[in-house]
Amino acid sequence: MPEFPEMEAWRRQLDDPVSAFPIVKAGPAHIATLKTYDPPLSALEGRQLAGAERRAKRLLFPTDDGELVLLVHLMTAGRLKYLQAGQEGPKTPAFRLAFQGGGQLVLTEAGAKKRAGVWLLSPEQAEAELEHLGPEAFGIGEERLGEICAAESRRLHSLLRDQRVIAGIGRAWANEILHRAQLSPYALTQDLTPDAVERLAEAIDAELARGLELRERGANDKRTYRVHKKLAEPCYVCGTPIAQVDFEEHTIYYCPSCQTGGRILKDRRLSKLLR
Ligand SMILES: [Zn+2]
Repeated sequence: MPEFPEMEAWRRQLDDPVSAFPIVKAGPAHIATLKTYDPPLSALEGRQLAGAERRAKRLLFPTDDGELVLLVHLMTAGRLKYLQAGQEGPKTPAFRLAFQGGGQLVLTEAGAKKRAGVWLLSPEQAEAELEHLGPEAFGIGEERLGEICAAESRRLHSLLRDQRVIAGIGRAWANEILHRAQLSPYALTQDLTPDAVERLAEAIDAELARGLELRERGANDKRTYRVHKKLAEPCYVCGTPIAQVDFEEHTIYYCPSCQTGGRILKDRRLSKLLR
């Protein structure tokens, strides 16, 4: 699933083009993609978007009259693209906005499962929809992160992925961040020293900024990640082969030398834990 670096890179790309012209046609939308029916999509027609905003892994497109907000959650396989006038697009996008002048915003989703979603909301509804999210990960800072870690005992990989606690990080960037901070994915939040919290806060900003810069330049996953999905490849710091472990429903990648004092972590799959 796209996380902060990917979503923020797309937001920056879309901000100008989506706000350049009024919407002439909203839809069609796949029945599984459009999650709301009141107000109808046609309420967007004739209005202009103020730009593209982002909250956690969601994109928001408020109208410039302040009355409506189009909220998009791409989930794992959804992609949002702005097509210039005359540029050929997909035949049956999951969702489409056509702008005056011929530009289009199209949402496509690879695979048969339609999991991406589009919501047309009032600003109040949008606020309620986003209420459960924790503070943005990028720029969270040592102090706030320290409070979050002290509040409950959680394994670090699980905490970083919990959108209600810290928003914008998923399993890929959790792997990159914990490696940079030299912390075990299984370390418990309440066991962290102040020094470790400081390293973690710094690693969050440094890795997310590194990811954003690469994504803005169009880098693919292989070039962007240094730990995630790099099983058996040499660690970029120490050369030890990267290891993997199954935890809850995810596969975690880590360096045993940099992060766990040489220990190999044991699987903690959800199915095993429930047994
Ligand atoms: Zn290493």
